[in-house]
Amino acid sequence: MLSQPVAADTWFVQGLSEMGSAANQNFISNAGFVITPAGVLVIDALGSPPLADRLLALIREKTSLPLRYVVVTHCHADHIYGLQSLKAAGARIIAHAGCRDYLASETARLRLQASREELFPWINEHTHLVEPDQWLGNGGRDDDLVIDLGDRRFRVRHAGPAHTREDLMVHDERTGVLFAGDIVFRGRIPFVGQADGRRWIEALDRMLELNPRVLVPGHGPLSLHPADDLALTRDYLSYLRQTMGTAARNLEPFDEAYARTDWSRFSALPLFAAANRMNAYNTYLQMEHEAP
Ligand SMILES: [Zn+2]
Repeated sequence: MLSQPVAADTWFVQGLSEMGSAANQNFISNAGFVITPAGVLVIDALGSPPLADRLLALIREKTSLPLRYVVVTHCHADHIYGLQSLKAAGARIIAHAGCRDYLASETARLRLQASREELFPWINEHTHLVEPDQWLGNGGRDDDLVIDLGDRRFRVRHAGPAHTREDLMVHDERTGVLFAGDIVFRGRIPFVGQADGRRWIEALDRMLELNPRVLVPGHGPLSLHPADDLALTRDYLSYLRQTMGTAARNLEPFDEAYARTDWSRFSALPLFAAANRMNAYNTYLQMEHEAP
């Protein structure tokens, strides 16, 4: 794991474009950190406690100032399983209330149980889900938050529902760096899951209104040309909605629609084989429910 410079006193680590596995320690997502004179703000916690420990070690190479905040961009396992290490180091954990139910759910518990086997020993019986210290968006209010820390002002914005209900972005006003979470995927097929593709595309557009100078995506390399570099996520989501929408409206069975769709624009990208069919299927189900 290497820390890559993003801007003044700002770094990120870049996960691999792979599925999570014991071999890669679940290092498949990005995390970032900003060092201010009043302490450190971290964005996301990586996919296992040992990974978060390595992130902490990278921070400690640069500063002995206290860890103050972790902003969780969303509650997918590859972004939150490292939280317990950062919490133990003294950070205050901030997330959006959209994932409150999930964290307390049977689904989350079973997922962790499965990960303890699939990702052993990086995820093991000592790994647990961490309840955030502060929720944004309680009852629809307080969706956004300003964190004044040292010489920085961070605007934490609710961008969901998009990739997830609870998507948060962190914008550093001074440097123009935007930590976009999984609103932006680069260099791999996005993970769509239960996401709402239409709102996700809208969130991408709202993101550009912030006019970020540098964008750190949830997956893939950092972007110095955000408007161009989010095109992959946008084009992919639009294409899924267009092709699967036509199929759903024509009552064409999914398997047939999938087989005849031309995927050549995306098929060379990492994780196409692992993720595309499920992404298409989830989109197909959504388009069946959307008004024509
Ligand atoms: Zn992710």
